[in-house]
Amino acid sequence: MNNVDYLIVGSGLAGILFAEVLTRQHKTFLIIDDASQQSSVVAGGLYNPVILKRFTGVWKAKEQLDIAMPIYERLENSLGIKLDHKISVKRLFNSIQEQNNWFLAADKPNLSKFLSHKIITNDNSSIKADFGFGTVLRTGRIDTSLLVQAYKEELDKKGLLFDESFNYNLLDHHQDHLNYNKIKTKHVVFAEGFGLKNNPYFNHLPLNGTKGELITIFAPDLKIDYVLKSSVFLIPIGNDYYLVGATYEWEDKTNAITQKAKSELISKLTKFIKCDFDIVNQVAGIRPTVKDRRPLVGRHKIYDNMYVLNGLGTRGVMIAPYVAQQLFDFIEHKLPLNLEINSNRFE
Ligand SMILES: Cc1cc2nc3c(=O)[nH]c(=O)nc-3n(C[C@H](O)[C@H](O)[C@H](O)COP(=O)(O)OP(=O)(O)OC[C@H]3O[C@@H](n4cnc5c(N)ncnc54)[C@H](O)[C@@H]3O)c2cc1C
Repeated sequence: MNNVDYLIVGSGLAGILFAEVLTRQHKTFLIIDDASQQSSVVAGGLYNPVILKRFTGVWKAKEQLDIAMPIYERLENSLGIKLDHKISVKRLFNSIQEQNNWFLAADKPNLSKFLSHKIITNDNSSIKADFGFGTVLRTGRIDTSLLVQAYKEELDKKGLLFDESFNYNLLDHHQDHLNYNKIKTKHVVFAEGFGLKNNPYFNHLPLNGTKGELITIFAPDLKIDYVLKSSVFLIPIGNDYYLVGATYEWEDKTNAITQKAKSELISKLTKFIKCDFDIVNQVAGIRPTVKDRRPLVGRHKIYDNMYVLNGLGTRGVMIAPYVAQQLFDFIEHKLPLNLEINSNRFE
């Protein structure tokens, strides 16, 4: 019998960042993952404290960044890999009106630390940007695909990862622990992303799921070293390769790539770049989005030692470290969960 403090289902950003808190707090754990969801593997990985469509602040942006950045740095050190690529995000302006809206936003107290007051003029002949760009501060990209891969390899080496589907029928409830197969655990944390839909304990929660697709292009004449945001993001990943995306699709809940998404991304991209490019890859995943755009964190209404850690939505990179810490403090230190993220708001 394996005897642990925690059993985590899911090794996406939610599961990994929770495991990271447990490691720091010297708690024992095992993780089960069947690779059925891939949001964290395909994500663009951007962290950006501003919603660039409307020039408004992201919910608890500063708090999230303050918690997240040191944790990603620690993960870089413990895994010996580069995860955090500090890169600026520039918003392409389509009109004078948009420039003015940017300045108005930059004067607001909650945004002034994130939006530069300077308008940058475009000097790159491969880009169409007659009205220039505004720069967002405190932005970057976490290589989430590398993080998931490296973290799982490390868990595997230590014998802490089971590569299989969680079988809910095998869960055996006791007063102060749970048994699952040959595992005895004090707590189970479900961090299944959109896989939550198959979880009989928590599938009543309103997780909608929003499919997203990204393409990778090779564009040797583009030569930009910042993330460019127009109707889509253009993200340099090195050696003249760029990620372009993402799409938003609410009906299709499969992880299959589609021609429709590819055409949409090309059409949007060619509105603001003028150089040639080749498409070399395409990926898709389901973002675990929630009706009210807040995470789902909390305890099962009947079984005290079962928890949900989900609903990271479109911004898992920034929000995962924050919610992982919240859940840990709730379980171990009996601290109340922020009401906006507590899953009991839907009970
Ligand atoms: C195209 C795209 C682009 C994105 N870009 C960004 C971005 O730039 N910045 C950003 O912050 N966010 C981005 N996101 C969102 C981000 O990916 C998510 O918020 C985050 O990755 C969700 O993490 P998660 O761990 O909750 O879910 P997931 O990554 O889906 O992980 C859940 C894990 O649980 C496992 N699992 C599920 N059910 C079971 C079961 N029954 N048994 C065993 N294992 C199970 C799955 O296999 C999976 O590994 C993007 C998403 C997409 C799709």
